[in-house]
Amino acid sequence: MSTHAAVQAERATGIPFSFEVYPARSESQVESVHETVQKLAAVAPQFIAVTYGAGGSSRDRSLDLVRYILTETNVPPMAHLTCVGSTANEANRLVRDFLDAGIRQFLAIRGDAPEDAIESEDFLGDLRSATELVQLIHRVQSEREPYTEVDEPQWGGGAVRLSQRREPVRIGVAAFPNGHPQSRNRAQDIDVLLAKQAQGANLAITQLFFDADDYLSFMVDARAAGVDFPVIPGIMPVTSLGRLNRIVEITDEPMPVHLEAALGSASDAAAQYEVGIAHATELARAVLDGGAPGIHLYAFNQHAPVLDVLTRLGAID
Ligand code: FAD
Repeated sequence: MSTHAAVQAERATGIPFSFEVYPARSESQVESVHETVQKLAAVAPQFIAVTYGAGGSSRDRSLDLVRYILTETNVPPMAHLTCVGSTANEANRLVRDFLDAGIRQFLAIRGDAPEDAIESEDFLGDLRSATELVQLIHRVQSEREPYTEVDEPQWGGGAVRLSQRREPVRIGVAAFPNGHPQSRNRAQDIDVLLAKQAQGANLAITQLFFDADDYLSFMVDARAAGVDFPVIPGIMPVTSLGRLNRIVEITDEPMPVHLEAALGSASDAAAQYEVGIAHATELARAVLDGGAPGIHLYAFNQHAPVLDVLTRLGAID
């Protein structure tokens, strides 16, 4: 094996990856979501993240699914939590319930307004941003810990960050390589990430994007500004033109015209699938080559596309 091939093989087997799924929308879907989770868990991801409906619409179903992952697989769950529209007491209770269930990895998200409230700020509730939710998770977690004496930090010995003294809770946050739709510019997106980091977030996952340079150039600016936690690129294999249109509509991401054209000219569903898998594989390879710490795959509750991407990357057999 050449040196290059050996390096590639070593890297390929060690690519960290994770998945995102959403909870069943009805009782009849629960079993098939569990089957998907089992197929995803079988390839040993770093974690499986479970989305949470803004406004608490999926509260019980999200909690059930993270509990299922915790007890029925060997993979740690990551629970998304949203704070939009909640009172401080409700948000407190929510965080406590998930911690009581044994969850120690969170994605702290603000959530979006219901469509009829979009023009006003009233929808926000007591917590105005994901940054405040990061703070709240740490606070609730530290209140649950039994009291122990902590040595005073010594002057000159280097300050110990508060977050390092707590029982380790992993708190991820959202990052937007192409900008959050409500942000004025990239500087604001990076400032918000820095604020989340200052409040104890220790990981970010990005909104999906379609061009490696979107992520890589964002990371150059974020690192220069002082963002030092891992920022995992979020990648979704988009295997049909219909899904691409829907995703662009939901996320406000710019339409990737090359992918749109390739999906549009594919002769049938199988050919569109192939275009989507090839595109996501190339994208993953390019961001990993550019230094991404791993990849987070939006599974859309289907195991085949994300597993096909990982197989082609050489991340799984
Ligand atoms: P924030 O970080 O609070 O930012 C929201 C906006 O406010 C941004 O424009 C930001 O620049 C601005 N802002 C924040 N703080 C300040 C400040 N101090 N001063 C001025 N401006 C500020 N939605 C769900 O409902 N459920 C999910 O499970 C879910 N999972 C997601 C996972 C990922 C990886 C991503 C990228 C998004 C997810 N979303 C989810 C969507 C998310 O709810 C929306 O993108 C939402 O609009 C913003 O959430 P946020 O956490 O980025 O908010």
